[in-house]
Amino acid sequence: MNLRFSLALMGALLSLALSAQAAPDGAKTPAAAAAKAVPATKSKLVPPPKPVALIQTPQAFCQQAAGRLPNVPMALCAQAQLQTNGAKSVHGHALMQRDVISPNAHLRVLVIGGVHGDELSSTSLVLHWIRAATETPSNIHWRFVPLMNPDGMLLARPQRTNARGVDLNRNFPTPNWDKEAPHYWSKRTKNDPRRYPGPKPLSEPESKWLFDEMERWKPDLIVSVHAPYGVLDFDGPTSPPQKLGRLYLDQVGIFPGSLGNYGGVHKKMPVVTIELPSAIRTPQEAEIRQMWLDLLRWTAERLGAN
Ligand SMILES: [Zn+2]
Repeated sequence: MNLRFSLALMGALLSLALSAQAAPDGAKTPAAAAAKAVPATKSKLVPPPKPVALIQTPQAFCQQAAGRLPNVPMALCAQAQLQTNGAKSVHGHALMQRDVISPNAHLRVLVIGGVHGDELSSTSLVLHWIRAATETPSNIHWRFVPLMNPDGMLLARPQRTNARGVDLNRNFPTPNWDKEAPHYWSKRTKNDPRRYPGPKPLSEPESKWLFDEMERWKPDLIVSVHAPYGVLDFDGPTSPPQKLGRLYLDQVGIFPGSLGNYGGVHKKMPVVTIELPSAIRTPQEAEIRQMWLDLLRWTAERLGAN
């Protein structure tokens, strides 16, 4: 290949790499970058294909998950002993959860993965942490929901939004949502389709389930796992964890309709947001373990788990 072509190719690759680096979960509006990664005309004209088979059972979940999630052997998924929790996605996939209850549990911690369907590693991490929870004594009632957005993740090409194109992490009823969320979307993200907050708060069954669960179960802490920005974020009334494994605290800002804003700022329910460094690879086993131990230690110190 000639030099000019090589330079053009390098430029294209560099801009792709930069667009992938855009900003932590909705921070600093990477609208232009996202538009480069997925051509806008394509996402508008071609409707996403429907998933082949509905997931109604934990066995079906594991058959799908083990094949497509990074670092999730079938045995790990089966050991997670997931159960349906009664909620369903837009397409009708059952949401799965697992409760791990220590004998003297007096704190409730809700761990959520796969809010964004293209962040595959987040679901993997939650499945690994279910095993860790069964092996580590604590005074916590854990509730794990590894995949909040199955419609987005189970596509041939996974997408951030749910089946109706809504960014679930912008669909929570923060104060003045009606004004702020659409305004933020149009002005700050330039109508980025990946960050559409929805027609109204809680318009989507997946976000509605999580909202209801916060009302019903009243977790003392929510841990929401995302990727790929490699940082730790925190919203809430207590002092944040400074690190989990190799992830360090970097509070990225407040967004209309986000879970951290709704839970941590508005409801005073602490929300730890984990941004794994890669959406398609999990951290190494030792790092997964260290993150877990750091989360346990901080929970014990700050929320009085022990
Ligand atoms: Zn995310």
